[in-house]
Amino acid sequence: MAHKIDAEKCLGCGACSEECPVSCISEKDGKYAVNADECIDCGACEGACPVEAIAAE
Ligand code: SF4
Ligand code: SF4
Repeated sequence: MAHKIDAEKCLGCGACSEECPVSCISEKDGKYAVNADECIDCGACEGACPVEAIAAE
């Protein structure tokens, strides 16, 4: 299990990246994405997103 960012909803604010305890969210071309291999599924990013673009998959 990992959390995933919906690129269509992501505003590129970076709030999720700042909350991630294992620094597995990175920016590319103005959008943020979760590295599923490193995500520990803690859910911290989900609450930080202002547009609810992140969910467990
Ligand atoms: S669920 Fe936790 S570990 Fe996974 S991307 Fe979000 S903050 Fe990082
Ligand atoms: S907090 Fe939400 S809108 Fe902001 S970069 Fe992360 S996924 Fe995108």
